Amino acid sequence: MRGNKMKEVRMDCPGGHGKMMLRKTKKRMTFRGVNIIVPIEQYRCTVCGVEAATVTQAARIQKTMADAYRKTVNLLTGREIVEKRKRLGLTQEALAKRMNVGIASIKRWEGGTIQSKSMDRALRIALGDQSVGDSCTGNREFSIPRIKLVLKEFESVLGKRLLKKNDKFLFAAKYLWYADMVAHREMGESLTGSTYAALPYGPQLNNYKDLIEDIMKADESKAEPLNRGEKRIVTRIALKFPEERMVYDAAHKEKIWKKQPNGAIIPYTDSAELTGF
Ligand SMILES: [Zn+2]
Repeated sequence: MRGNKMKEVRMDCPGGHGKMMLRKTKKRMTFRGVNIIVPIEQYRCTVCGVEAATVTQAARIQKTMADAYRKTVNLLTGREIVEKRKRLGLTQEALAKRMNVGIASIKRWEGGTIQSKSMDRALRIALGDQSVGDSCTGNREFSIPRIKLVLKEFESVLGKRLLKKNDKFLFAAKYLWYADMVAHREMGESLTGSTYAALPYGPQLNNYKDLIEDIMKADESKAEPLNRGEKRIVTRIALKFPEERMVYDAAHKEKIWKKQPNGAIIPYTDSAELTGF
């Protein structure tokens, strides 16, 4: 049907040589500094060789170029995003919610706008791609000073202390876990690189007994500062769980914790299935 429609809008040569011919070719071109080959369908004058595309054709060429580029640099193409999303039975809205982006962003990426590398990672995570990076650390190098920094940030938003002497990290670990998981889900990268184990009293830092003292002693000024997006995640989590009990209870309802056997690592690749946040 589409093909027939295109024939109806046959173009005349702007040089006055009458009707132009529909021509399908493959063009080699440079797009954002990358060589791509793009199948192109447009009109060509058999007399002077001038080429022109209808609005529909031009839009399709743009989309094809964007997808050829994404394929070449290993980003999800618009078509791949649509296919993966539908396979999971997700609407554009549901996917947007998982990633905490507007539905317009999903529409743009599916339509041909090129996503950034980090958004591509977040997209893959939200779309359940199990091969995304390191599922133990959430694609970030483990940093004890950063754990302290994140917990200090929580303390300043919550207006209470989480880092207490002789603390077993019962509550601190839950805030941290949500922050790391949500950052991974929305930005493709955890905040602290921590690995979490499923323990009977909820998600906990793996080997937390060996870590707590080092965390308490750590110099958070040595950690990479939190960027705006990271701070916003901490703030959102703190506002949702103003009481320690709330974050504790929410974590205990998470099926990604429940489904793990006692002591097993909770992979970051499950972050798209968080329900409490
Ligand atoms: Zn012509």
